[in-house]
Amino acid sequence: MEKAINIPATTLPVMESFYTLQGEGAHQGKAAYFIRLGGCDVGCVWCDVKESWDADAHPQKSIDVIVNTALQAVPAAYRLAGNNNIIAVVTGGEPLLYDLELLTKALQAAGFRTHIETSGSSKMSGVWDWICLSPKKFKAPLPEVIPFANELKIIIYNKSDFAWGEKFAALTNADCKLYLQPEWSKAATVTPLIIDYIKANPQWQLSLQVHKYIDIP
Ligand code: SF4
Repeated sequence: MEKAINIPATTLPVMESFYTLQGEGAHQGKAAYFIRLGGCDVGCVWCDVKESWDADAHPQKSIDVIVNTALQAVPAAYRLAGNNNIIAVVTGGEPLLYDLELLTKALQAAGFRTHIETSGSSKMSGVWDWICLSPKKFKAPLPEVIPFANELKIIIYNKSDFAWGEKFAALTNADCKLYLQPEWSKAATVTPLIIDYIKANPQWQLSLQVHKYIDIP
């Protein structure tokens, strides 16, 4: 049987895109332009963007339109190729359902730093300045994706997620930052557990979804 080849996507289903602050993880508090792609086959029960799951529910946009819309959203001083100062976060949905080589190259050529938030459950593609891997129990990450992570973000929904997260931490590269983040609906219960866990295991850090506390997208 012939091996399947990945064809870089020239259009992508875009659920929404917006300029805001990154609310969580290693780049929390920095200005960032988010591109949320439609389509997800992971199916987390606590997913807070279930409307992203059906790719067909979102308009296909060309790479050109996606990148030019991003450029219009950021301050004029940054609309210069090579500035590489403003972060573009590609999220979903599960963005790695698509081959993101063309999108990431175009974003970088326009002066963005390319960041991705992924469950790692599909093949890696694209040229990334930062990879945030957030494994999900509902569809495990591919083993070959894990060493690429600059940041491992484990969502804590119940106590068993600590041990589950350690399995992935053991597979990351030595420079990978390790974060524990309360699942939003369980935050009141699990945040104290996370604090205790980090005090006992200081290689981990706390990630809070600050954008939800200050009510920004
Ligand atoms: Fe939702 Fe993300 Fe889980 Fe997909 S991977 S179901 S978008 S939380």
